[in-house]
Amino acid sequence: MSQADVSYSCGSCGYPLHLTSSNRIASGFGISSEYSKSVKKGLISFLSVDLSRFTQVDEVHCFPVSWGRYRLKTKLLCRKCGVHIGYGYGDAPALCGFDSPESSGAAYKKFTVKIRAVQPSEEISGYGISLVGDGCPSLSTLSLYRCNITDTGLEALANACLALRCMNLAYCPHISDSGLSALSQGCCELQTIKISNCKGVTGVGLRGCSSTLVYVDADFFNLEPEGIMSIVSGGGLKFLNFAGLSCSKFRNGLETNGKGLETIGNGFAAGLKTLSLRMCRSVTDASVVAITKGCPQLQEWNLAMCHEIRVAGWFSIGSDCHNLEKLHVNRCRNLCNQGLQRRLQTALHFVHEP
Ligand SMILES: [Zn+2]
Repeated sequence: MSQADVSYSCGSCGYPLHLTSSNRIASGFGISSEYSKSVKKGLISFLSVDLSRFTQVDEVHCFPVSWGRYRLKTKLLCRKCGVHIGYGYGDAPALCGFDSPESSGAAYKKFTVKIRAVQPSEEISGYGISLVGDGCPSLSTLSLYRCNITDTGLEALANACLALRCMNLAYCPHISDSGLSALSQGCCELQTIKISNCKGVTGVGLRGCSSTLVYVDADFFNLEPEGIMSIVSGGGLKFLNFAGLSCSKFRNGLETNGKGLETIGNGFAAGLKTLSLRMCRSVTDASVVAITKGCPQLQEWNLAMCHEIRVAGWFSIGSDCHNLEKLHVNRCRNLCNQGLQRRLQTALHFVHEP
């Protein structure tokens, strides 16, 4: 979606206000300083708006301008919830108070909108997504990549699209574990879920997910240690990507208490074939040993840039990963021959990315 296509909804209730950025008064010749001043005040200006989306309340702040015309300032409220969104400005042809802007068809010249009162495009609202569900009850694949879907939307989806198998929710900033939970409980045929870069998700929303869930793509997200247990809880995982995991929560000895990444090796992910822990700086020997024991089916394991793996970890991979075909070890500072047995070195395909 290009910048010009961004549309805005009521920040309070999500009602689509049809405010589109292409109608914004942007910086340009002669108005750039006024533009930047208003942005600093938390206001954005539009040349036109869809007045059917607003309730207009005349503020009766009338100042004579010239030639008997009066300046019109009208409050614009969200038509659905009544929250104050902004103002419309124009010149009223008659004395204010006698003609409403609607009846007189007053020519607005400018609209200002409080940035805090709106949110970018709520095109995927709970209501909108429930329409999708009603219309396509057999929907099996849905990508909402970089969409503004909320937990309400996910709940609507979970109630309507019971046949969903593949779901892409990567870069959805407004979802949390609550929505994820509704989805994983409602859509019990779910096989693939992508939740990469979802800042509001910790993983616990997948607790008790179905054993049909085989593919979880969750790189660069705010996984909590408890979230790992939830993600593997269905018992059916074959592909798991935790690349770039934020590691702060996995330090402070959590790993040694068995609550960190070693949870992957607790038996629930025994069928795992592909695992990426790329750039997970908190992967320790303890986690590697647990995973090698608990995930005997592993065929591809990405441990690139995992600097904390030392002799014990590599040794464990060398002795226990009998099905491993690909091991990514680029930029592993503590990779050593001593740990990796000769058998492994000759059998494996090492991947060195640039
Ligand atoms: Zn509203």
